[in-house]
Amino acid sequence: RAPLAPTDTNAPVPHSPPLPRQNSKTTPPSPPKFISDKLGKHQFHRVGFLGEGGFARVYEVKDTNNKRFACKVVTMTSLKTKKAKTKLYAEIKIHRSLAHPNIVQFIDCFEGDDNVYMTLELCASGSLMDLLRRRKRFTEGEARFFMIQLIGACHYMHGQSVIHRDLKLGNLFLDAHMNIKVGDFGLAALIETSGERKKTICGTPNYIAPEVLFDTANGHSFETSRQFISESATMTTPFLPRPLLPLRFPLAASLVTSSLKDPQQRPTLLAIVNHEWFTMGPVPAYIPTSAHDAPPDWS
Ligand code: ADP
Repeated sequence: RAPLAPTDTNAPVPHSPPLPRQNSKTTPPSPPKFISDKLGKHQFHRVGFLGEGGFARVYEVKDTNNKRFACKVVTMTSLKTKKAKTKLYAEIKIHRSLAHPNIVQFIDCFEGDDNVYMTLELCASGSLMDLLRRRKRFTEGEARFFMIQLIGACHYMHGQSVIHRDLKLGNLFLDAHMNIKVGDFGLAALIETSGERKKTICGTPNYIAPEVLFDTANGHSFETSRQFISESATMTTPFLPRPLLPLRFPLAASLVTSSLKDPQQRPTLLAIVNHEWFTMGPVPAYIPTSAHDAPPDWS
C-alpha cells in the first residue's frame, strides 16, 4: 500500500493535485549510466535497479573505488511545485542528521542535469516485506532480533526528536548481514518543542497509529512510532492480525494488544523490551543469510 499524502487537518481541504507519482504510465527516462554532479565532484556508475516508491526510483551504484551504494533519484520535473520541493528538503534535512547502525545511512545528495540524487547505504537484502513474502512467517527468535534492532533505532530517533511516521515492513530494509536498517524518511517530522503535537494525517493505511487518524484535536508525537504494526491499526477496537496468535503465542499477543492501546497507556520502548515475550526466550546474536529462504537453524 502506498503512503497517504500528508494532509493538514487544520487547513481547508487542499485543491492542489497530489504529488506526482512515478508510476508505469509516466515512467521517466532512466538516469544516465554515469551519474555525476555538474562539477564532477560526485561520480557513480549505475549498476542495477533496486526499487521505486511514490516519489523516487532507487538504483544500485558504484563509486570510483567500486564501493556500492543505493542512489535515490528524484526527477527535477517532479519538483516543480513548492510543496514537492519542501517535502524533499524536509526528508533530506532529517535523514542526513541521523547516524545509527539500524538506520539507512544518508551519505550525500547532489544535483545532476535532470535529477536530484541521494546516495545512501546499500541494503543488499531487500526489505522485511520481501523476506516475509518469501518465508510466510518468522521464528520468534528472528522476530525478537528484528524488534530489538527496530526499537533501538526508534529510541535513537526519539532522542534526536524525530518521528518516522511510516514504519512498516516495506520501509525496514536489511543489509547483507540481515541487520535492520530503517529507511524512507519521506514522512518523518521533527518535534521541535517539547509537548509539540503533530496534526498532519499521514502514514500508510493498515499501519497508521489510531490517534493519527482519530485524535485530530490532540495530534500525535513520539508514541506514534511505538505502535506495533498491525493489519487492524485503523479499527476502533484493535484485534490481532491472526486469530491463532493469542493461542499459540500468548505473550506476543499480549504485547501487541498493549501496544495498540491509547498513547498514554501504551508501553514505553523500554517497557516493551522488558516485556516477558523478549525475556522468555533467546535473542539470537545474528541472523544467518540462509534465513532468506528457510527458518534459521542455530543449533
Ligand atoms: P519513496 O520515498 O519514493 O517511497 P523508498 O525510499 O521507499 O522511496 O524506496 C523505494 C524502493 O527502493 C524501496 O522499496 C526499496 O526496494 C528500494 N530501496 C530504497 N532504499 C534502499 C537502500 N538503501 N538499499 C536498497 N534498496 C533500497
